[in-house]
Amino acid sequence: MFDNQMSLSFPSKSVNEGLARTAVAAFVAQLDPTVEEPCDIKTALSEAVTNAVVHGYRNSIGTVHIQAKRKGDRVILRIRDKGCGIEDIPRAMEPLYTTCSTGECAGLGFAVMQQLCDKVKVRSAPGRGTTVVLERRITPRGE
Ligand code: ATP
Ligand code: MG
Repeated sequence: MFDNQMSLSFPSKSVNEGLARTAVAAFVAQLDPTVEEPCDIKTALSEAVTNAVVHGYRNSIGTVHIQAKRKGDRVILRIRDKGCGIEDIPRAMEPLYTTCSTGECAGLGFAVMQQLCDKVKVRSAPGRGTTVVLERRITPRGE
C-alpha cells in the first residue's frame, strides 16, 4: 500500500513543465524533505517530462501523465507518454547518446535522472510510448 498519491495530466507543451515541477515539489514537501531533495527530484522530473515532450511526441502534441506516490520515506514518480517509444532502451540510457540532430540535446537526461534518483526504470515500446519510473528516498529528520 502507498501512503499518499496524486496524478496530473497535461498536453505536451513546454509551458506545462513548470506546472509539473511545482505540483511534484508540493507533493514532496509533505515528507518534510531537506532543501536539496525537492530540487533533485524536480530536476530529474524535468528531464523525464522534457523527453516526453521533445522526443516522445516530437512535432505533435499528446498527453503527458505524471503519477506521484509516497511509500513510507520514498517518493515514486511515474512519467508516461504515448509517443514514438524507444527502440533500444540500454543504448538510449548511455551518457551522451542522443537522437537529437539540432545540437540542442547533450544526451545526458537519463544520466542526470540516474545521478539524482535511487532507482530509474524505463519501459518503452516503439509506437506505443514510454514510461519512466523514478524513485528517491527522502531522509527522515534526525538521520
Ligand atoms: P538531453 O536530455 O541532454 O537534452 P537527450 O534528451 O537526447 O539530451 P536523454 O534524455 O538521455 O538525452 O535521452 C536519450 C535519448 O533517448 C533521446 O535522444 C531519445 O532518442 C530517447 N528518448 C528519451 N526519452 C524518450 C521518450 N519519452 N520517447 C522517445 N524517445 C525518448
Ligand atoms: Mg533528455
